[in-house]
Amino acid sequence: MPTRDYQLFVGGEFVDGTASRRFASVNPATGAEVASFVDGTVADLEAAVAAARRAFDAGPWPSMPVAERAQRLGRVLEILGGRVPELSAIEYQDNGATIRQATSFMVPGALGFAMGIADLATKFSFTSGQPVTTGPVPGGPFGSTTISYEPLGVVGAITPWNGPLILAMWKVWPALLAGNTVVLKPSELAPSTAMELARAFAEADIPPGVLNVVTGGGTVGEALVSSDHVDMVTFTGGTATGQRIAQLASGNLKRLTLELGGKSPALVLDDVDIESAVDGVIWSTLFLSGQMCTCASRVLVNARVHDEFVERFAARADKLVVGPTDDFATDLGPVVSAAARDRIEGYVQLGTEEGAVAVLPGGRPSGLENGFYVKPTVFVGATPRMRISREEIFGPVVSILKVADDAEAVQVANDTQFGLAASVWCNDRRRALDVAGRVRAGTVWINDHNMLSPQTPFGGMKMSGSGRENGESGFKAYLEEKVVYLDLTPSKNEHLWALVAP
Ligand code: NDP
Repeated sequence: MPTRDYQLFVGGEFVDGTASRRFASVNPATGAEVASFVDGTVADLEAAVAAARRAFDAGPWPSMPVAERAQRLGRVLEILGGRVPELSAIEYQDNGATIRQATSFMVPGALGFAMGIADLATKFSFTSGQPVTTGPVPGGPFGSTTISYEPLGVVGAITPWNGPLILAMWKVWPALLAGNTVVLKPSELAPSTAMELARAFAEADIPPGVLNVVTGGGTVGEALVSSDHVDMVTFTGGTATGQRIAQLASGNLKRLTLELGGKSPALVLDDVDIESAVDGVIWSTLFLSGQMCTCASRVLVNARVHDEFVERFAARADKLVVGPTDDFATDLGPVVSAAARDRIEGYVQLGTEEGAVAVLPGGRPSGLENGFYVKPTVFVGATPRMRISREEIFGPVVSILKVADDAEAVQVANDTQFGLAASVWCNDRRRALDVAGRVRAGTVWINDHNMLSPQTPFGGMKMSGSGRENGESGFKAYLEEKVVYLDLTPSKNEHLWALVAP
């Protein structure tokens, strides 16, 4: 039986909406239902959009100074900050992260990102409320031009299950700091912390309708994306869903930020200290059981160090503790659902059929049959053309490919439709920077991976997305740039006619 029951959060109130059905989130570690949610309808979504619209068109939020918005949102963070252990348990029971990951990264990291985004937003000159005034228009002696930044309106935010709170913060915080109002639709696999966020908004006395949260599946997501009353959609999820969203959002040409899938490479050059590269690449590939969007899933290793790297990597991966999510000794928890496990196991079988060799064979661990566990699989001998080297598996499956030199490493790294992230493992600064400069990915780490910050823009090249989150460009995505040209010169008409008259 679920132990928590949530409602929808619309116009500042918790409501049951019009839905006749509820659904449950399932703890991936045990298969037990943990919380129950309203299976929102299109009518519920429309009510939430209408509430956000009213809060934007007639409420105080858009016209408040950014510092006041930041201060009010800071109260939400204080409330959440007082509940970190409880929220961490809620998070890992929904999405199968480990207690270590949830308590050290997923919840504190979400709050840290929100604070960092607020810090940036209040420092940007373009949010100060003072328009930038420029001189006369070039070629004309009259008038002056002011540039101001205004919120867009209603923002629809759609988040995935793998980092529910942190990815909600990446969207809700900049959108609200910029003066917009928001309708958030979390993934139905892990919606609890989005509802806890709503609870903190209600406690913090944020004006009604500024944040609305509607639970439900793809139908609710499609209604949000299609609505003509929504001005922007910010989406994180799979590439196929992103393509569908781009089509649906075209009706009113709403702004779109898309953070999508990846097939990120780790490039291991031949001058590395192998032991520390193995350690780092284990983290790159298997963090969150390979279910972080930036995780490397292709490891491209220089032929000179390939065999030693493979041997040490497989031995190290084999030692990782796959176990219960509430145990601090666990390194890898389950994958998010039975369907995800089936998909991952299908790819492991496919890799073998394609001719790759599993030096670590994966499989289900014994004694954990109720949860959706899969042990890490490490393939060698995969070629760049194989489907396991090209498609996003989103699980603990790593392909190690042998490459002759840096040029081949770069060529294989770029031979993909994706371009989200990459890492280069190398001790020579100049060589590492040269290789990093030639890899087509939104983020390239050198001797690190999966490290993100509120100060730096994050996003994908190619089919890994469009637009950026975080950093200055991520924040500006939530603002319209507006130009007002002012001319009070009485004699201007005479001058203008001189330009057009024969
Ligand atoms: P999905 O694309 O399946 O779902 C993401 C969100 O979109 C969920 O809230 C989902 O709802 C919703 N959704 C599903 N169908 C539609 C639709 N037709 N219209 C509108 N919304 C819809 O992704 P996952 O949740 O499975 O997340 C994993 C994917 O996310 C991976 O591909 C991963 O790479 C990517 N990702 C990308 C990141 C990045 O920053 N680039 C970061 C994290 C993940 P519901 O779940 O209720 O069906």
